[in-house]
Amino acid sequence: MFFFFVGGIESRVVNVVQRNLGPCVLVGCNGRVDLCEVASSFYVFFIPVFDYGHKQLVRCENCGYVASPEQYERHRKWLQDKVQQLGDAASSQASSVDKISTEKNN
Ligand SMILES: [Zn+2]
Repeated sequence: MFFFFVGGIESRVVNVVQRNLGPCVLVGCNGRVDLCEVASSFYVFFIPVFDYGHKQLVRCENCGYVASPEQYERHRKWLQDKVQQLGDAASSQASSVDKISTEKNN
């Protein structure tokens, strides 16, 4: 008797909970992230038989970034802080340049 079994376990997106949750946090990616419900799926002959281990993940379809919602919020906060710091540095430089140019004019 000859028996073939084609099957396995694979992670797949079961449901998109919320589209457009926010911007992607990876530098250079202009995509938006979705909050998805992901499950491990047991499949036989490429047909999913049952799902288990459901969890929610944030995913960017543009670049493939995947993180838990908590990780995503941390990344987003960190990025906002960095942008804020760069903005502060740029504005302080601009004000010092203005100061120098007004001193020159007087
Ligand atoms: Zn992305």
